[in-house]
Amino acid sequence: MKTPAFRDPAPRGLCTDCGVSRMADPSACGKACQFIAPDYPGLEQAVHGRARGGGDETFFGPFRSMHRARMAAPQDGAQWTGITTSLAADLLARDKVQAVLTMVPDDTDVWRPRPAMITDPSDMARARGMRMGYAPLLALLEEAQAEGFTRLAVIGIPCQIYALRQLEADLGLERLYVIGTPCSDNTTTENFHSFLALLDEEPGSITYLEFRADYKVELRYADGRQRLIPFLSLPISDLPRDFFPLTCRTCVDYTNVLADITVGYMAGEGDQWVVVRNARGAEMLEGLGDRVVLSEPGSAGKRASAVKGFIANTARAAGGLPLRRMPDWLRPIVSWLQPRIGPRGLEFARARVEMKAAETILHLRREEPAKMKNMVPEHVWKIAAPYDLTPEETEQHPEKEE
Ligand SMILES: Cc1cc2nc3c(=O)[nH]c(=O)nc-3n(C[C@H](O)[C@H](O)[C@H](O)COP(=O)(O)OP(=O)(O)OC[C@H]3O[C@@H](n4cnc5c(N)ncnc54)[C@H](O)[C@@H]3O)c2cc1C
Ligand code: SF4
Ligand code: SF4
Repeated sequence: MKTPAFRDPAPRGLCTDCGVSRMADPSACGKACQFIAPDYPGLEQAVHGRARGGGDETFFGPFRSMHRARMAAPQDGAQWTGITTSLAADLLARDKVQAVLTMVPDDTDVWRPRPAMITDPSDMARARGMRMGYAPLLALLEEAQAEGFTRLAVIGIPCQIYALRQLEADLGLERLYVIGTPCSDNTTTENFHSFLALLDEEPGSITYLEFRADYKVELRYADGRQRLIPFLSLPISDLPRDFFPLTCRTCVDYTNVLADITVGYMAGEGDQWVVVRNARGAEMLEGLGDRVVLSEPGSAGKRASAVKGFIANTARAAGGLPLRRMPDWLRPIVSWLQPRIGPRGLEFARARVEMKAAETILHLRREEPAKMKNMVPEHVWKIAAPYDLTPEETEQHPEKEE
């Protein structure tokens, strides 16, 4: 495994330091960046052979199949059961790829992601788990080129995978496998540490955090304890207004639609959620054979009122964090009801995608209105339209109008 040092990043406006600005030609950001003028229909066509259709593809992007899924033997240290890192380890073990580009924890801070080029399948165990923050994953492409590798796998979050797909044709690769995870509400590792400090008097003892689909945050501790905190009891009001950077409040691809396979949890109802997008994604999932247990994803509840409430709170917060207006005594009751009557399974995933689309529009409209006509793709407007969020004249490119 290699964790090289990179050049300093070039200064940019909206940027999650995906690594492109640290490469030999930092001007490639102009073509590669999701935060400038993304072309989702064009890249969906190039990667999957077609742009997204209607129905659930409106929300989740092009797919061949969706599954509720878990590893038959959950992997130690994984964020969920370890499907993501197992897919990549399998590609290395079968020599389908020579290296996997991904993140491992930094030596000095387990919550800080650090780019790593992994060539030994057993080292994929070191990448397991979620870190909060960004690190220049794609700068590893030059490292891989220097090694002469032409068959690669990349594991990344959506803003990294968008840039990767834009650059793919120029990389001279014989084969590229792309494993994506969904991503939302990321922030700097420094900000994340201040959040942990609000959750526990001994933040250094927290080893795991996840926002689960049952409306609870799960914490795990170094001594083996587990703690569940309902979303409504989180100390959100104590966080600074700019806790989430504008990039992560306004990015436009929650479910990593340009990956060959997306591995998340949102529609998994306690298990994982796997979206197979193309033949390469299907090939990867088949590689796990009966090591992965698959079933049909369920769907229950109705999302509309939850999404409307979220949009109203986001609009009211005027750029800050969307706090729910609710007396303290009511919070435990609503927390108990949410996982029982709120949207679940695919309906939960649709709700989260709609919320994210609305956030993108509201935050950009307030903070960077001039970027809207280039940065907000048609699919975001389509997802937000049922909630009366439609483009104003200056917010949409003339050729994008339907
Ligand atoms: C910031 C963030 C927000 C997320 N939000 C959602 C969400 O809202 N909904 C949802 O369904 N899923 C979300 N995910 C994905 C989810 O947390 C799990 O990573 C995913 O379900 C895979 O679980 P696993 O057990 O298969 O992963 P593992 O087998 O444990 O592998 C995790 C992989 O993710 C990589 N990784 C970890 N942290 C980062 C990082 N900061 N940047 C880039 N790569 C990283 C690791 O290097 C590893 O390859 C998010 C992930 C991140 C990093
Ligand atoms: S996110 Fe990546 S492509 Fe966009 S400006 Fe930053 S380094 Fe460049
Ligand atoms: S929330 Fe969006 S912009 Fe932020 S790291 Fe995740 S994919 Fe990138």
